[in-house]
Amino acid sequence: MSQQVKIGKTDVTATALGLGTNAVGGYNLFPNLKDETGLDIVKTGVENGITLLDTAYVYGLGHSEELVGKAIKDFDRSKLVIATKGAHDFSTGEQVIKNDPKFLTEQVEASLKRLGTDYIDIYYIHFPDHDTPKAEAVGALQRLREQGKIRAIGVSNFSLDQIKDANADGYLDVVEDEFSLLHQDHGADMLPYLKENNISFVPYFPLASGLLTGKYTKDVNFPKDDIRSQIADFQEPRYSNILAAIDKVRPIADAHDATVAQTILAWYIKNPLISVVIPGAKKPEQVAANAKAMSVNLTDDEFKAIDAAFKGFKHITSGKSLADPD
Ligand code: NAP
Repeated sequence: MSQQVKIGKTDVTATALGLGTNAVGGYNLFPNLKDETGLDIVKTGVENGITLLDTAYVYGLGHSEELVGKAIKDFDRSKLVIATKGAHDFSTGEQVIKNDPKFLTEQVEASLKRLGTDYIDIYYIHFPDHDTPKAEAVGALQRLREQGKIRAIGVSNFSLDQIKDANADGYLDVVEDEFSLLHQDHGADMLPYLKENNISFVPYFPLASGLLTGKYTKDVNFPKDDIRSQIADFQEPRYSNILAAIDKVRPIADAHDATVAQTILAWYIKNPLISVVIPGAKKPEQVAANAKAMSVNLTDDEFKAIDAAFKGFKHITSGKSLADPD
């Protein structure tokens, strides 16, 4: 059986590798994915042993949640961990981020309906707003937990100070934020705080949107309207340095008869500061391949060698981030 991890102080347990579903039904983010492909991606994940499915209201404005809910109908719900998120309000026609208790409570009810389930295993406040005291926002989720509607409480894209405020009453179980071998900015402060306080950490963009799979070469040329043409990781000289670091992973991957993507995912799985890694996918075969990372057991030396290869990539210095809320 694959390694199981416990979420925060709860009795929620999941495989150390989950599935990110921002491309599943997420037409506002990724225009070309058909519903059937999205359903297939989720089903393939579960069939290959993945138990945690990460979605959010804002992925397709509810459509990702609907497809995840539909895809899991054929499986044993009690074995799955559904994580979703809310904070975006588009009711005025513009995007507003809200964390007030009334709004979050309505969002949880709406997510339950779209997912077609009685409970959500992990509910995250997707982004912090400017006004709501964070302990109040989490207090609203705690009341929903007491009613059995959610099982674990999370926040996403919060600063360390906001996380500390959110955890004032000790209710916080899990934090989701951008973190990868290329963006290790939280490694020094946030991750040790989470570990000390028994709060799980779920990094997003673990494959740096595909770059860390090792599939790109030096002569890549994205069209101007492709966001990757503006992302800092794809700009020189950083891009060539990243490709050189990836080349150092290749012999380790070969030793395990694994791909670069599987080996990089295995690094997250072995990392004691990380609970569940949630790579996304746009094709079912990518999910099936990524699930195999759960069987790649890196030695301590291999883990350290990958660490060392990416040591210089602590900060993004310029360029756009895909994670920006607007
Ligand atoms: P990611 O996991 O870094 O990259 C996923 C992309 O890499 C896929 O869409 C696919 O794109 C490529 N890929 C994946 N597996 C591959 C394989 N085996 N071989 C080749 N290419 C492969 O980025 P992400 O999906 O955007 O982020 C992961 C998850 O984190 C999301 O799905 C979402 O659930 C979550 N997330 C959360 C937040 C938040 O604010 N909380 C923000 C962003 C994301 P191509 O085929 O196009 O190359």
